[in-house]
Amino acid sequence: MRSIFDLTLEKLEEELVNNGFKKFNATQVFEGIYKQKHTSFLDITNISKELKKYLTENYSLEYLKVEEKLTSDTADKYLLNLNDSFVEVVLMKQSYGNSLCISSQVGCNMNCAFCESGRLKKQRDLTTGEMINEVLTIEQYENIRIDNVVIMGIGEPFDNFNNIKDFLNIITCNKGIDLGSRRVTVSTCGLVPKIKEFADLNTQVNLAISLHAADDETRNKLMPINKAYPISEVLKAIDYYTKKTNRRVTIEYILLDKINDSKEDAIKLANLLKGKLVYVNLIPYNSNSTDFKRSSKERIEAFFDTLTKNGINTQKRREMGKNIKGACGQLRAAKEKQGE
Ligand code: SF4
Repeated sequence: MRSIFDLTLEKLEEELVNNGFKKFNATQVFEGIYKQKHTSFLDITNISKELKKYLTENYSLEYLKVEEKLTSDTADKYLLNLNDSFVEVVLMKQSYGNSLCISSQVGCNMNCAFCESGRLKKQRDLTTGEMINEVLTIEQYENIRIDNVVIMGIGEPFDNFNNIKDFLNIITCNKGIDLGSRRVTVSTCGLVPKIKEFADLNTQVNLAISLHAADDETRNKLMPINKAYPISEVLKAIDYYTKKTNRRVTIEYILLDKINDSKEDAIKLANLLKGKLVYVNLIPYNSNSTDFKRSSKERIEAFFDTLTKNGINTQKRREMGKNIKGACGQLRAAKEKQGE
């Protein structure tokens, strides 16, 4: 049975009208499930018996099961059961609210060398409803409101573009979850045509791009996607996006010891980004089963200083989830191994 969370308000309106109900019924249903958080259609008070029956027979309103939770003082990680597989989300309670990092696919085909998820090939895309359900499930499980959503967990969101588009529509819909667009961030490894398509959506949703290297030779080794869309193409896509939206792009840069973290790398990166509407987020690496090592504190500081001295807006991401298998895919990888 299809999840009700798959449908945008416009799609639900169309479905209901096609089945003899009124367009405004869709708003009532949306408010019932997203604002009043009813978990049964029968509990939505202001809709007819016929509509309750139709919805119950045709749509599921089930939340996901929390299979496992790992806690640290900075972040909690959850393994959610999708029936045919598992997916991870990470909750960070910060001074400016609760941020949830969600996954967009089961596994990932992008094959980034430093990433645990890249070792588990993509099994399938997550549906729109499953991604909405990642948010709803954690809100219900923890009895909290999620204030920020980052699509930066397992998977490449732009490789699941249509479902992401509907997800963004529902999560920001004022009749639905009603999260401000600026509180949502989509992070891509650099699928250039999709960055342009995203720019054309004219949304206020934030864009983050994983660069992780300042030259093609290094980036080819770290991120195979660079062979299809090299750094020069990514930079052009950034220009297209910023011109179109006037919104700043976050450049994600994982610092890997002696791979991409030298002073020369920082100067190269500064030269690439000079004059662009971007800021750089430096991320300390969470060591996992790959051969890469985290950069030392001194190298991270030196990299940061070089960028800022060269006029690049830069921040260091706070340490998150180091002891909870914090890098994307680590918890799911452990669970899959258990099942082998
Ligand atoms: S870093 Fe992201 S895009 Fe790259 S393999 Fe991992 S999940 Fe996929």
